[in-house]
Amino acid sequence: MSEKIFVNKKGSCICGAINFTVKLDEIPRVFNCHCQDCRKKIGGMISIIELRENAIQIDMERLSIYEHSGGSDKKIKKHFCKKCAAPVLTYVERWNKYYLYAGLLDDISILKKAINIFYESSHFPFMNIEDKKIKV
Ligand SMILES: [Zn+2]
Ligand SMILES: [Zn+2]
Repeated sequence: MSEKIFVNKKGSCICGAINFTVKLDEIPRVFNCHCQDCRKKIGGMISIIELRENAIQIDMERLSIYEHSGGSDKKIKKHFCKKCAAPVLTYVERWNKYYLYAGLLDDISILKKAINIFYESSHFPFMNIEDKKIKV
């Protein structure tokens, strides 16, 4: 039986008020989301990492939450730094999972694979991902 390999990574927001340590799979599940909600929140496509339960050590008191409904009418809670407004976590009720904004990691070298979601429906025309294996 092969054992899962985990790695601990550190990250922060741009102002430094948010610092965290996160336990990630050796090959984390990363999604590039091209949907309109993400675009309107951040101004463009986002990259997020699916987290396992209790994978992140973070001071939730330093985060503000903006809550809205997703396409399935389930709640989505976007957590961002109270000071610099950097997006930090998104909670998706439908999957009961937290997602970490990938760009906050200090070391992004382990992010070697990503699936592009809502690509077909709403990607920027200047982007062109041909690979059918990595887009939905
Ligand atoms: Zn999205
Ligand atoms: Zn900040």
